[in-house]
Amino acid sequence: MKTFTTRRDIREYLTSQGAATIGFVPTMGALHNGHLSLIARARQGNDITVCSIFVNPTQFNDPNDLKNYPRPIAEDMAKLEQAGCDVLFNPPVTEIYDDNEQWHLNIGPLEHLLEGDFRPGHYQGVTQVVYKLLDIVKPDNLYMGQKDYQQFLVVSRMVSLMGIPVKMVMCPIERETDGLAMSSRNIHLTPAERQHALVIFKTLNWVKANFNIDNLPTLQKDAMAKLAAEEGVQPEYFSIVDGKTLLPADANSETVVALTAARVGNTRLIDNVLIK
Ligand code: AMP
Repeated sequence: MKTFTTRRDIREYLTSQGAATIGFVPTMGALHNGHLSLIARARQGNDITVCSIFVNPTQFNDPNDLKNYPRPIAEDMAKLEQAGCDVLFNPPVTEIYDDNEQWHLNIGPLEHLLEGDFRPGHYQGVTQVVYKLLDIVKPDNLYMGQKDYQQFLVVSRMVSLMGIPVKMVMCPIERETDGLAMSSRNIHLTPAERQHALVIFKTLNWVKANFNIDNLPTLQKDAMAKLAAEEGVQPEYFSIVDGKTLLPADANSETVVALTAARVGNTRLIDNVLIK
């Protein structure tokens, strides 16, 4: 695997590869099998697979979360080698952002719903970094997880607004055998919290099993209550929404998705299931 830390070097290398198709997997590192499933998917459909590891400061609204975000770069590099990744881009913050850089792209209501409501500024940070990474890597295909469902919609909107010629591919959520969605933040959970966190996937499944378009408000309320009843779990939202707009689902919604965020101890977890 080739590793680059500057825009110039990675650009020079990728340009030298001519017409080879590029699959790109942006990450913040602390890699788990969820990330590696994206790498596997990229390898299947492209000549070159590029992964970036960059803990993007502009998407963190909690300075402690940024400070404590795990950064096991040696282990990550070994996992990427093993997974057959061709190129790693691991830039320092100064390579991506100018001092005091500020700009805002209007992506519409998606920015302020759900995650955007609880993490103000988060999606502007995501938009900034993905825009910059796409400009550097210039991939043919971009692989992102359903785990961050709203992020996928936000990036799709940005790609379409800016006319970036990349195909977006959504990859399914990888879970531990007991159902917990894999996340770099799971290592912060104590063994007891790890058990309590299982209520998230259980509740999502319960909602999926009991869904009909007429009982949405009750179902959402009951789901919040189920989450809150579990020791150490504080739900932030549980929403059953239209899969394209993230507005409340209705009979015309082609896709329906249930999305939730909850704090388990000090760790904030998100998860979702496709209902229709
Ligand atoms: P992150 O490092 O958390 O920014 O995630 C990088 C990419 O991996 C994003 O596209 C995520 O949606 C995806 N991802 C994170 N967790 C999972 C998972 N459990 N299964 C599949 N993809 C995931």
